[in-house]
Amino acid sequence: MALSLVLSHLFVLEKDCDDIKFEQYEKLEKIGKGTYGVVYKCRNCETNEIVALKKLKMDKPDEGVPYTAVREISLLKEMQHENIVRLLDVEHTEKRLYLVFEYLDLDLAKHMESSPEFSRNPRLVKLFLYQILRGVAYCHSHRILHRDLKPQNLLIDLRTNTLKLADFGLGRALSIPLGTLTHQMVTLLYRAPEILLGLKKYSTPVDVWSVGCIFAEMVNQKPLFPGDTEIKQIRMIFSVMGTPNEDTWPGVTALTGLIYKYPKCLPKDLATVVPNLDAAGLDLLGKMLCLDPIKRITAKSALEHEYFKDIELIP
Ligand code: ADP
Ligand code: MG
Repeated sequence: MALSLVLSHLFVLEKDCDDIKFEQYEKLEKIGKGTYGVVYKCRNCETNEIVALKKLKMDKPDEGVPYTAVREISLLKEMQHENIVRLLDVEHTEKRLYLVFEYLDLDLAKHMESSPEFSRNPRLVKLFLYQILRGVAYCHSHRILHRDLKPQNLLIDLRTNTLKLADFGLGRALSIPLGTLTHQMVTLLYRAPEILLGLKKYSTPVDVWSVGCIFAEMVNQKPLFPGDTEIKQIRMIFSVMGTPNEDTWPGVTALTGLIYKYPKCLPKDLATVVPNLDAAGLDLLGKMLCLDPIKRITAKSALEHEYFKDIELIP
């Protein structure tokens, strides 16, 4: 290959990249572009290993590496679990930051799109859900919230059906005393009702809510609560789970003075909402989608739910 061609394939696009060891990574294709960065599939020419290289977008280039990135790195370095994507390397210049991750085949959103038949395999749905919950339980046991769980942030190895949590850009150690957590963090479809209603000191139950939404979506092959505004989102949730009141969710009226404005819906039978799920699955789903975050099942307890009693049988 001509030298210029070789160079065009190398990850040395920016002028100020000269000082980074990027000659090592051959860019193969762009695989993702999200809120915080562009992700490329690359080959490590020294080891031949295929990796995912995430280039972090600069909020304010003059101010150096963004805080969100620093947070992602420090969190990920601490996370060592088979259901959490592994951070292999960090490369940085004064201005830019590149995270090198183990490469997985695709994310769950793409998988559901390209292989919709997987929803007809209840064992596979169960296996994926189990792994999501294991990853989440691990995060929560380290006092870390993911806060942006959605199919696009769950990566899958197709050969082994291994699933791993990715994209901790918005994660944050609960122990950091920052007072109230930022609003507008979890994607709308998977956003917990307590966030939608304005609770500022939300915690680990927000992730479990997101997992519940993902569970139903895997079975139904369509989003459970496809709202496009916050108000539609909350109305949609209430129309299925029932409109809360002081009996079902103590404190809800203090959370929003406007709760009386919502139509008073009764909870629907989840079997009519997710018809292809068995009784144990429906019971677990109902517990993950409990409106009151205090009463919502934890990821750790969910792993012990009856729905998973046959999980060892899955190869
Ligand atoms: P963002 O903050 O931009 O959302 P993500 O880390 O979620 O960044 O990556 C964006 C997309 O890139 C993901 O939805 C996924 O499709 C793909 N991707 C990210 N990391 C990997 C990886 N390690 N292996 C394969 N694909 C990945
Ligand atoms: Mg993402």
